Amino acid sequence: MRFDVLTIFPELFCPHLRDGILGRAVKNGILHVKIINIRDFARGTHKTTDDRPFGGGNGMVMKPGPIYRALQSVDRANGSSLVVLLSPQGKAFDQSVAWELATLDQIILICGRYEGVDERIRLICVDSELSIGDYVLSGGELGAMVVMDAVSRLVPGVLGGERSNIEDSFQDGLLEYPQYTRPRVFQGKSVPPVLLSGDHEKIRLWRRKESLKRTLEKRPDLLKNASLDREDKEILAKLRK
Ligand code: SAM
Repeated sequence: MRFDVLTIFPELFCPHLRDGILGRAVKNGILHVKIINIRDFARGTHKTTDDRPFGGGNGMVMKPGPIYRALQSVDRANGSSLVVLLSPQGKAFDQSVAWELATLDQIILICGRYEGVDERIRLICVDSELSIGDYVLSGGELGAMVVMDAVSRLVPGVLGGERSNIEDSFQDGLLEYPQYTRPRVFQGKSVPPVLLSGDHEKIRLWRRKESLKRTLEKRPDLLKNASLDREDKEILAKLRK
């Protein structure tokens, strides 16, 4: 999987790509990430990447030329690639979108700033607009990091032997069960005894029940589309009572 990120603040990505699961996947060559400084494609002595909006109004708008030229400089992967504009007006980014994107060979992410990107970039170059939530951020960089992180976790080999994503929240439409580690008692609260029992079937059942319970309590909306078998439905019926 390859990510190309267009930004005027390339240094913001350094810590995210150096450390943790993503950093390791980059070092191992499973992920290829190229951060492209849009300013390198700006012209004139001041290398300006923004200008005043036509029609007046507050703030500045990102000029189309530097972004267009930066996009043209990107090496296109042989397989499938998608140009994504981070935008509060985009389609909501969630786990199912992350799964769709994880099947691609290359994702090119454009990070806006100021009042956003000249509309012609969206019209001419963008395949998909993605929003990471119904709020307005100062720039698309945090959104690009969110997309890269969530998608990368689904790319085979990225999580390595450390853990699998199979039981993560949203993978089967449910929230994940509660997790515990040592010590067995912390501030008077004990680890549920079933987790210490060594009985794998009981542990599986407990985790499934907790997962359903949490989803029912915190995100009942998810249950509509969750994949539930007969056992799940019976557990849910009891929980609802
Ligand atoms: N004026 C724009 C509007 O009202 O739609 C908002 C521009 S915002 C201040 C600057 C940039 O931040 C956007 O171009 C986009 O790249 C990014 N951004 C802001 N909120 C975002 C969100 N919720 N999801 C993804 N990107 C976002």
